[in-house]
Order: sequence, then structure tokens, then C-alpha cells
Amino acid sequence: MRKISILGSTGSIGRQALEVIEKLPEKFEIIALAAGGNTDLLNEQIKKFKPKYASAADLSKIEGAKPVTLEEICSNKENDIILVAVSGKIGLRPTITAIKNGIDIALANKETLVMAGDIVMPLAKEYGVNIIPVDSEHCAIHQCIKDISQVEKLIITASGGPFLKKSVEDMKNATVEQALAHPRWNMGKKITVDSATLMNKGLEVIEAHHLFDMDYDKIDVVVHPQSIVHSAIEYVDGSVIAQIGLPSMHIPIQYAITYPERFEGIKSKSFSFSEIARLDFEAPDWDKFKALSLAYEAGRAGGSATVCLNAANEEAVFEFLKGEIKLFDIINAVELMMEKHIVIKNPSLDEIFAIDEEIRLKTRELRRQ
Ligand code: NDP
Ligand code: MG
Repeated sequence: MRKISILGSTGSIGRQALEVIEKLPEKFEIIALAAGGNTDLLNEQIKKFKPKYASAADLSKIEGAKPVTLEEICSNKENDIILVAVSGKIGLRPTITAIKNGIDIALANKETLVMAGDIVMPLAKEYGVNIIPVDSEHCAIHQCIKDISQVEKLIITASGGPFLKKSVEDMKNATVEQALAHPRWNMGKKITVDSATLMNKGLEVIEAHHLFDMDYDKIDVVVHPQSIVHSAIEYVDGSVIAQIGLPSMHIPIQYAITYPERFEGIKSKSFSFSEIARLDFEAPDWDKFKALSLAYEAGRAGGSATVCLNAANEEAVFEFLKGEIKLFDIINAVELMMEKHIVIKNPSLDEIFAIDEEIRLKTRELRRQ
């Protein structure tokens, strides 16, 4: 029995994680579930999965479990593993708390490594904690790597999102609905918009740099519209190992929370090469998807640059989702904020949160100029 808590149980990843756990009832005991505002769904989940503890933005609305904070969940050593599937920077401090308590992390939340990879990864090493990636690309790489010292290159695949075959003009005038119509994956709104601009891939490059301690020059991105090859690595001898499978987040979620074991669990269907028939690959269009270049730039600059990239992007994505700005304004905002930002090397956690706030404020101010 593995004792697990899920931060963000009401979200896209969180709900799918509970579907995985439902298929493996003898393998898991749920210690805590945590949501934000959706206490109706959280309370349904509590009824069904009977965790001891639960957390939500409004603790008074929790029914059937002891209300606690995210920090309290993450300092509870009963947990063997915590799935961090909240969206946004709220995931960062609890993850650090869990690491300091020696609890393994199944990591979906992107901000944790994009904002503070230089703090989180050394800390995990110090406390002997495993960080198992949930994101399909990193999970793929995690499965391919036997000996990291012999890896020459990471190859991250990108579906290309809804605008892959569209012109720059179409993309400029894209509606929120068009940006949210992802051809392959059904995800939360913020990450879906990031997938349309390819900022999501940029954030993944930064995560991969931290997770696998790989130089940015050794991380490639290739567009692969079918989303069957989830990512690959090239060894020094030229051998390439790719992880392949049907596009379903259930598989990487199950891999991360059951690692290093494997179970049939959620598997619905066997993979068939002949049914897939063909796999296409192409280089990314760097002019159309400028977000990708900006992410590499921020990653290479290091320090607070990725905090700036992430904060400006998230704030602008929220404005886009509210219909206040156009899709390309997101990337323009990120570029402008990065130009102005004076990079701080090795920022502390407090500095990271302060910079994050400052950049968000400045990004919102852009619209008023
Ligand atoms: P969703 O928007 O679907 O879910 C977000 C979850 O976080 C919800 O449970 C939400 O609660 C919770 N939450 C939000 N704010 C708070 C808060 N202040 N306190 C506590 N809980 C909060 O996002 P996804 O599931 O799509 O993504 C989650 C993370 O995983 C993101 O960082 C994303 O980038 C990453 N990811 C997602 C993938 C996917 O396929 N969806 C793939 C790879 C990575 P509530 O709904 O109750 O408000
Ligand atoms: Mg991904």
C-alpha cells in the first residue's frame, strides 16, 4: 500500500489521477485531497475516496475529512508520495515542504521547476527524495534514461497545438475558443493556451534542464503532430531511445505514482504500430512560435529570468482568456518584460516570489499604457 496525497485533485491531472487510483484500490491509501475553489467536487471525492484530510481555499466548506492547509498535508510524514497537480505558483512552497520531510514527489506542476529549479532539485538530492515527472514528455525521458552520463541530447516532442497549420495572420486573430481547441490533449485552460503559443514547450525545456541536469544546447524540440512519440533521448553513440504510446495522461500519471513498479491498471487498449501507420516530424517554426525562443533565452540567462518569463506569460494568458488581449500580445508582453528585467543570479525563494509579483503587476500595467 502506498500512501498518497493529491494537491489539485479537482483539476484535469488530479481527476485523472483518481481514475488511476480507482483501478488500483489495493495499491493506494489516500491520505489527503486538496482543491482550490471547487469544493462541491472535492466533497464528492471525499465521499468516494475517504481521505483523512482535505484542503480547499475555503476550509469551512469541507465535509467528511479534517480540514488542513497544503503545508500541513506536505509536512505529514504518513505520506509516501505527493502528487503536485495544482496549477500555478501555489505548488512551489508545499513541494519544498514535502521534500524537506523526505516525501517523494510526483510532479505535474510546471511552476515548481520553472520558477525554482535551482532550489528544488539540489534540495531533493540533499533529502534523497525522488521527483518523478508526470508531464508526458519528461515522463517519457525518465523512462528512456538508464545512465544520464551517457546521454548526449534530449529530444522533446511537441504536438504543435491548434495553430500548427494556420498562418501567422490566423493566429494573430485567434479567438479564445480556437486557442482552447487543442487537437490532442484535454487539459486545464492555462496550459492549453500555452500549448497554442508553444510556451508550454518552452516551459518544458526549462523543466527538462532542471530535472535531467542537461545543458540547453543539448535539449531539442521537434514538432510531432500525432503525439505518439512522447519524447526521446540520444546516447553518445548515436543510439536514440524514444518512449511511444497512445496520447493519454493516465499512463504518465500512473507511471509517476507507482514508480518503480508497473501495473496494468488504467490501460484500456494495446498499442498497435499498424493502426497508427505513420508518424510525422518537423522542425518548429521559430518565427511563428516565438515563445519557444524566449523560453530558451530565459533558460540560458538563468537565475530570475525564468521567473520573469513565467509570471509575464501567466498574467498575459489570464488576460487573453478574459478576452482583454490578443494571442500574440501574450508573447509581446513576455518579450517586453524580459527585455526590461535585470536578472538576479541564484535568487532566494522570497526573492523569487517578490519578482513574480513585480512582473505580474508590470504585465498588467502594460495594458494601461
Ligand atoms: P487545472 O486547471 O485543470 O487544475 C488545477 C488544480 O489546481 C485544480 O484542482 C484547482 O482547484 C487547483 N488549484 C488552483 N489554484 C489553487 C489554490 N490557490 N490552492 C489550491 N488548489 C488550487 O490544471 P491541470 O490539471 O491541467 O494542470 C495542473 C498542473 O499540471 C499545471 O501546472 C499544468 O501545467 C501541469 N500539467 C498539466 C497537464 C495536463 O495534461 N493537464 C500535463 C502536464 C502538466 P479548483 O479547481 O478546486 O479551483
Ligand atoms: Mg507536456
